[in-house]
Amino acid sequence: MEFVNSSTPRYECLLFDLDDTLYPFSSGLSDACTNNIIEFMVQKLGIDEEGVVELNDILYKKHGTTMAGLKAVGYEFDNDEYHSYVHGRLPYENLKPDPVLRNLLLSLPFRKLVFSNGDEVHVTKALKRLDIEDCFERIINFETLNPKIHDSCVADYLIENPVICKPAEIAFKKAFDIAQLNPYTTLFFDDSTRNIQTGKSVGLHTVLVGKSEKIDGSDYALESIHNMKDAFPELWSECNNNNESETIVYASQISIETSVQA
Ligand SMILES: [Mg+2]
Repeated sequence: MEFVNSSTPRYECLLFDLDDTLYPFSSGLSDACTNNIIEFMVQKLGIDEEGVVELNDILYKKHGTTMAGLKAVGYEFDNDEYHSYVHGRLPYENLKPDPVLRNLLLSLPFRKLVFSNGDEVHVTKALKRLDIEDCFERIINFETLNPKIHDSCVADYLIENPVICKPAEIAFKKAFDIAQLNPYTTLFFDDSTRNIQTGKSVGLHTVLVGKSEKIDGSDYALESIHNMKDAFPELWSECNNNNESETIVYASQISIETSVQA
């Protein structure tokens, strides 16, 4: 799918990472997740405890996620088992309904999507805990990017990279295709500097979340997603100028993209 870059971008779509973006790092979920991943590597894959932390770090940095790295270097395990192990015991109780974020999202009449490396169960659970699950048109998650049967155009990539995930460019291109999304009119929010950098390289307008300083590749930086309105008042003024301010609620039919097998 090809898009034309416009010299006067006007946002049509807001694309959000989930973890540490739609809720803060201080929730403790990320740290707990890392601990669970390390435990999985030791308990389920038999990796030596000595050096496992370093290996996790190397795989994460080189392959985007530890899971992708483990598969790339030859470990075999069931994806669902991995996800339930690393996400199953996260402190979801730390995530509380977020009416501030909910109101911000609902007051913006743009397309809104979530784009996460997390699996469907985790993403749905977290969004429900935050009470924002009905604020999005679509969720692009692990299963969306990694259907049981891949289309042929990713076959070459999969030989060396068994898992498709951010920050790989192919993950972004897939998301654009699946959601029919034009990167040049999309504002992308993510806490990961490398996701932001790939996002920028494929045409997105980028917002680094959780930091007050911009980095190479980020057009903006936001300490908290709650600061959206201060950082982008034009999003709301555009609504008012158009006199079309409306509330979009995707009531009771959150669209979770899953693999479809013929
Ligand atoms: Mg994140």
